[in-house]
Amino acid sequence: MRYCNFCYKPLKEVSAATGNLMEPHGPRPFHCSCRPPHTQNEKTVEDNWETYPSPEKARESGHPDPCEICFSGEWHGRTPFA
Ligand SMILES: [Zn+2]
Ligand SMILES: [Zn+2]
Repeated sequence: MRYCNFCYKPLKEVSAATGNLMEPHGPRPFHCSCRPPHTQNEKTVEDNWETYPSPEKARESGHPDPCEICFSGEWHGRTPFA
């Protein structure tokens, strides 16, 4: 099981920004649903954020990768869904 670097909960529920999905940085990663500080700044549009019950659901919705800040280290070069 993976754990969030911020709330230390097991990875389960995740959140991702859905606005401008493919622009300008490509598909958005999914973050922990605790929404750590790097997911919130003055440009954050809360209406564009969606919460998913699992990483698999986030992937199905167009968020293929885990955020490396929320879920760093052991995910590099490996599938997060194994
Ligand atoms: Zn968290
Ligand atoms: Zn993150």
